Amino acid sequence: MTKTLKILVVAGDGIGPEVTSEAVLVLASVAEAGGYEFAFRYEPIGGVAIRAQGRPLPETTLKAALDSDAVLLGAVGSNEFNALPPSERPEAGLLKIRAELGGFANLRPSFAWPGLSQNSPLRAEVVEGADILFVRELLGGLYFGEPREWNKQTGAAWNTMRYTRDEVVRVAKVAFELAQKRRKKVTSVDKANVLEVSQLWRATVTEAAKAYPDVALEHQYVDAMAMHIMNQPRNYDVVLTENLFGDILSDEAGVITGSLGMLPSATIGGRVNLYEPVHGSAPDIAGKGIANPLGAILTAAMVLRFSAGLEEEAAAIEAAVKRVVADGYRTADLARGDKTARVLSTGEMGSRVREALSEQLSGRAAAQGV
Ligand code: NAD
Repeated sequence: MTKTLKILVVAGDGIGPEVTSEAVLVLASVAEAGGYEFAFRYEPIGGVAIRAQGRPLPETTLKAALDSDAVLLGAVGSNEFNALPPSERPEAGLLKIRAELGGFANLRPSFAWPGLSQNSPLRAEVVEGADILFVRELLGGLYFGEPREWNKQTGAAWNTMRYTRDEVVRVAKVAFELAQKRRKKVTSVDKANVLEVSQLWRATVTEAAKAYPDVALEHQYVDAMAMHIMNQPRNYDVVLTENLFGDILSDEAGVITGSLGMLPSATIGGRVNLYEPVHGSAPDIAGKGIANPLGAILTAAMVLRFSAGLEEEAAAIEAAVKRVVADGYRTADLARGDKTARVLSTGEMGSRVREALSEQLSGRAAAQGV
């Protein structure tokens, strides 16, 4: 990485600022250790933006986002605005920034952290070793297809699941390229036994796979896949899906990880990549200093991997999180009544990760003889 990496931080509401500041500190440690230059700029989004400027996504925030190399988002949402119409609420700011940045591939890793399998409602022997990366198409399908309407006169409503070949090809390429760097398997999920749009999806993915002979491709129907993920999560590497199926399956697979607070995400392929932990603003725990920052910290690792090309540093952050969790450190959501757990605040957990990261990075420097 030669030039300065410009990162726009939109921390948002509730626990957003609490967890995002830990992610920023981790990124700053990486910059310091590697001699990289990361320039952080801060702008409001969501409820804080409504309070300050009357709208959930101010023009200055959007402009700064489009002028950055990566956008790191915390979370949006505040009960204070529940009476507003959806288009004026904090969440509208999130939908708008996603649309304006234009990312079409939403990456959601679902990983069974060693030592945390007792947190999953699934049996430990089913979950252990699971490591799935969902690649969900984010700009097409039922959520965007036209026509869409709820006709209150006739009492009928409809949405349209629509894809073009090009939309499928571009997201399939992302999935195959990521699989090449992992365990070289793509499972494409559709409902081709019933839906024409899924037949197009399956034919297009099969065609796209020919350019990646080193990657094994299998197809699954979405209903069967919902069951397979719970029965045999270890069987899957990269799971490629359309928008609605991916929304549902990636949430379902979240149980493998055991806490919403552990899940990162990245949305790539648009004008600027957008990085955000999967969780929301958690108003029930906001301001208490007990939020789990690991999802946000793992999101920072994705910033390095996908916007800076710093794969080793990204892996070092993930290894540091693995170390801290394996050593028994927990935030309250991870402790779940475990009396032996060492329960840390948000800030203490962030410090632990930075300590472990510094060991990772210095170990790497020593191995390189630096
Ligand atoms: P939520 O994710 O905020 O919280 C769900 C539950 O998980 C809560 O009990 C919360 O305390 C817990 N939790 C979430 N993140 C945690 C963390 N890092 N550490 C420890 N515990 C954590 O979802 P919700 O309660 O349905 O929504 C709250 C608000 O967030 C709403 O306004 C909603 O619209 C918004 N929301 C925003 C996003 C986003 O910004 N991407 C996503 C989902 C929900």
